[in-house]
Amino acid sequence: MAGSTVNGGISFWYARDGLPAPREPLPGDATADVCVIGGGYTGLWTAYYLKKAAPFLQITVLEARFCGYGASGRNGGWLYNGIAGRDRYARLHGHDAAVRLQRAMNDTVAEVVRTAAEERIDADIHAGGVLEVAYTPAQAARLKAFHAGELAFGEKDRVLRGARETAERVRVAGAVASTWTPHGARLHPVKLVKGLAAAVADLGVTVHESTPVTEIRPQHAVTPYGTVRAPYILRCTEGFTASVKGQRRTWLPMNSSMIATEPLPPEVWETIGWEGRETLGDMAHAYVYAQRTADDRITLGGRGVPYRYGSRTDNDGRTQPATVRALRDMLVKLFPTTAGVAVDHAWSGVLGVPRDWGATVTLDRSTGLGWAGGYVGSGVATANLAGRTLRDLIQRDSGQAGDTELTGLPWVNHRVRRWEPEPLRWLGVQAMYAAYRGADRRESAGLTVETDRIARLADRISGRG
Ligand SMILES: Cc1cc2nc3c(=O)[nH]c(=O)nc-3n(C[C@H](O)[C@H](O)[C@H](O)COP(=O)(O)OP(=O)(O)OC[C@H]3O[C@@H](n4cnc5c(N)ncnc54)[C@H](O)[C@@H]3O)c2cc1C
Repeated sequence: MAGSTVNGGISFWYARDGLPAPREPLPGDATADVCVIGGGYTGLWTAYYLKKAAPFLQITVLEARFCGYGASGRNGGWLYNGIAGRDRYARLHGHDAAVRLQRAMNDTVAEVVRTAAEERIDADIHAGGVLEVAYTPAQAARLKAFHAGELAFGEKDRVLRGARETAERVRVAGAVASTWTPHGARLHPVKLVKGLAAAVADLGVTVHESTPVTEIRPQHAVTPYGTVRAPYILRCTEGFTASVKGQRRTWLPMNSSMIATEPLPPEVWETIGWEGRETLGDMAHAYVYAQRTADDRITLGGRGVPYRYGSRTDNDGRTQPATVRALRDMLVKLFPTTAGVAVDHAWSGVLGVPRDWGATVTLDRSTGLGWAGGYVGSGVATANLAGRTLRDLIQRDSGQAGDTELTGLPWVNHRVRRWEPEPLRWLGVQAMYAAYRGADRRESAGLTVETDRIARLADRISGRG
């Protein structure tokens, strides 16, 4: 069965939907008002909102490969209200500031759904919310704590369910409890990024593909084909940031891998349920995330080999056979009736992880350099909030507008120290994930009913906890 699995090819989403027609590279030196580096959700949403707010601005997007080449064309399609670093921001700026951030994220899910409809982007969006399940006692304890924590951050519409009610939604083997929030939707990542790139180009933004930026300086984005000069240069390169000169230790590129099954026959769906098409996750330390696609497949993702030595990133999405086997085993563990189902595709991508595991959006007023990212595993919605926030920051800086609700959010202009040099970086991440996997095994075997203390220690050492 594994033999028939396509591995790589950027992602399953492109295999079904086709790679986009290429756009022209930068033809030579150029000028702009704003230069955006990276054509993923962050860069494209930023260009979109800026151009909408100020149509007179000349905006140029420079993309190394093609729009949607990175995580935005490979992700699990969870559009949801999680933001990396919220709890840290609560500690740094107070609970109320973090509640404002959470509210902004809840609104962001609705904003993406609304804007996609307005721009006639059919991205298979289904607003079924997010369901997270627990199937060990330790996971159940974490789930209850997580649920209570989310309520404390203002999510009054979140629902806790027991084993029977969970099974009425989705029959995950051994599930003992779940928590559900309405602030989430399933989507087709590539349909969204393709539609967004087309919307941005239609608005009059200049988009150059096959144009890698090799160096970023104030007012300069340097490429092999010429330099774009602009008062504002925005770095939106997420998991690829380490490849930009001077940024090697800024955000660690973390791999995430996924599989997509063949469409499941109706008799298998009858055993699983999942009529609500919620995005689905678990509470393991090395957690999995899944969706039921519009054409009735299951896509499921998890960590795989988390980090490659020296911050290396990509091989067009190929993933290790051992990771494909592990994800398939996980699928069958969650849904035993999928044992005979073929895995059609496997792929991987990179996400950006800051040293404190907190997402940020920044505009340095003294240089005009800006950036957004470090979303860890939750950038599908967060990138939209980042795009609107960069718009507001630039409008404020250029005197077109004042402070807004978004410019006052606690993740704005947050600075964090860089990652350790190699080999410490590699050793640290390997050790952390080995600890997580060991903790998951011990919890699954019922050897501990509370969150494993080694996993807790790994959280603290890695800067995650
Ligand atoms: C397998 C996987 C599953 C995921 N699942 C989810 C999920 O279900 N929900 C969720 O919320 N998040 C998920 N994420 C994370 C989410 O996809 C990302 O956070 C989000 O797409 C980041 O968007 P971005 O535009 O910042 O980065 P990217 O989409 O990575 O875009 C960066 C772009 O910059 C370009 N680039 C890089 N370097 C240069 C350069 N030097 N010059 C010019 N261009 C450059 C790249 O080619 C790329 O197109 C997942 C990530 C992965 C990898």
